Amino acid sequence: MTGINRMDRAAGAVVGSAVGDALGAPFEFGPSGAFSARFPRSAPGGEMCGGRGWDPGEATDDTQMALHVADSLLERGRLDPADIFARFQRWAAADLKDIGIQTEGVLHSGLPWDRAATAWFEAGHRSAGNGSLMRATTAAVHFAARGRAATMDAARRISALTHGDPAAGEGTAVFHDLVRVALDGGDPVAALPETLGHVHPDHRDRYAAVLAPDWHPRLATEPNGAVWPCLGSAVWALRTTTTFEDALRAAVDLGMDTDTVAAVTGGLAGAVYGLGAVPARWTEPLHVPLPGAGDRVLRLPELTEVARRLVESG
Ligand SMILES: [Mg+2]
Repeated sequence: MTGINRMDRAAGAVVGSAVGDALGAPFEFGPSGAFSARFPRSAPGGEMCGGRGWDPGEATDDTQMALHVADSLLERGRLDPADIFARFQRWAAADLKDIGIQTEGVLHSGLPWDRAATAWFEAGHRSAGNGSLMRATTAAVHFAARGRAATMDAARRISALTHGDPAAGEGTAVFHDLVRVALDGGDPVAALPETLGHVHPDHRDRYAAVLAPDWHPRLATEPNGAVWPCLGSAVWALRTTTTFEDALRAAVDLGMDTDTVAAVTGGLAGAVYGLGAVPARWTEPLHVPLPGAGDRVLRLPELTEVARRLVESG
């Protein structure tokens, strides 16, 4: 995709992820195909429908956590894991509509930032959920210009705040690198073999499987609330479509953890196609209430501004 500049792509990623989150939220835990059954591709309109406790266009915990990461990066001027963890804790103490089980357990454990997630993992809890991947777009935009090693390392460190299983960190690192490639104007799907070469060897085969050209979400061996099929599904949605809108439609149509799969897909697809490819009928109702940060509600202008500042400070 030529003719789209880096800032368009960065804004596309941040806004696209929030759009996916809000688009998918009403369909969470639902069956595959529910979205297109209700909103046929041939009759566009009304897709930001709300439901399951969410207002039309309201983004969920995925985007809220991503924006707390953004706030920390912008205010601290560096990656400060203790500060991000403290922001997550303030957020988790607020009146939330949703929070992941593992994220909640870790943030409320009373343990310090550098021990809480590891303790949860070592206690035998399932820790390879998609809850750190879902919030990765803002950091991926910020660290992209620093190159592959730096952005993948930042991904692992931020993931580890809530997800002690290194598998979650490796998946988030892959996502960061694919966003980096897209912001540079490259094709993230074509870059997959090279990115996989930088995944920790203990985790490479499993990611190679879900990121392979012939993989399909129905081949997943876990629900898409796990990090591997979530990332694989997002890449599949990008690979098998040619527009932002169709990628998001494919993601939500997978059912189950629709807000998060679509948030991850939207981050990737937004970086590839740019903000101009995100339908206005989806960005107009989009809004992100941000518990733990006053009464802020971010809409398109504020989200675009966050993306701009993340790039300029990156
Ligand atoms: Mg959510």
